[in-house]
Amino acid sequence: MEKLSNPQKTIEIIQKYGFDFQKKFGQNFLIDPRVLDKIIAAAQITKEDFVLEIGPGIGTMTQYLAEAAREVTAVEIDRNLIPILSETLAEYENVTVLNQDVLKTDIAAIAQERNAGRPIKVVANLPYYITTPIIMGLFESKVPIDSITVMVQKEVAQRMQAEPGTKDYGALSLAVQYYAEPYIAANVPPNCFIPRPNVGSAVIRLTRHQDPPVKVRDEKLLFGLIRASFNQRRKTLVNGLKNSASLPFTKEQILAAFEQTGLPENTRGEALTLEQFGALADALAAQRGQAEE
Ligand code: SAM
Repeated sequence: MEKLSNPQKTIEIIQKYGFDFQKKFGQNFLIDPRVLDKIIAAAQITKEDFVLEIGPGIGTMTQYLAEAAREVTAVEIDRNLIPILSETLAEYENVTVLNQDVLKTDIAAIAQERNAGRPIKVVANLPYYITTPIIMGLFESKVPIDSITVMVQKEVAQRMQAEPGTKDYGALSLAVQYYAEPYIAANVPPNCFIPRPNVGSAVIRLTRHQDPPVKVRDEKLLFGLIRASFNQRRKTLVNGLKNSASLPFTKEQILAAFEQTGLPENTRGEALTLEQFGALADALAAQRGQAEE
């Protein structure tokens, strides 16, 4: 069958099935073959790879993935797309479509069953309303991941890749960079989709670190500290942490941890590297340990 990655073929299939786009599912289908080639190249897929695709839509990118990979499993929430996918993917024997919500799918079990528990590649033109829960959910779960290559809102890609001291730097940058190395592979304008989204998009590859770049005593405390630091951007870090409902530290403990880490009292969260957040989390954990003795 002719590839779906052009406006005529996409419209033809949509009309044939009387398909109605569902805004609530973030449905914007790709119609540009150059963008699809860029995604496949960025994902560095080989014939050895098992790929999980999130939200195949009418199967546009799935066709490319099926040709590049050993095996593809595609998880699609919208049951109206399932008969369409049966037609558009009929000639690809290495594709399995699951009609499920990806947030409720046991991806670790899929990786175990279909890839013998080895690291998988995730590739998706993501529904933008759940970008962060999908990506963070994959990293925080026990799913063995090699890389995640996704189309996301451009601003979100910039925040994931941002460095300390820049305007885009924040909790998302640190959370993503704790788990992976980000690389923005392409910017994609709205006219590459049907219907056109209201925002610009970008393709970002997140290559999972073998080991986190910082080792901390208490990962939960590190993430709590990062969130609290960016919740109150206009305050100094000491005041932001002291006022945080989720962190149980007194001002004295916080100041002692700052001193131990060599950070000045007027430090702001947006200036701190992941390593500095790690050192501060360990110093706070030590304060907590002393208080409990
Ligand atoms: N991959 C197709 C493409 O590039 O043309 C479609 C991408 S579209 C931006 C997002 C897709 O994700 C839609 O097909 C939508 O129905 C699906 N989707 C939305 N929420 C989902 C969820 N929770 N679980 C699985 N699929 C979902």
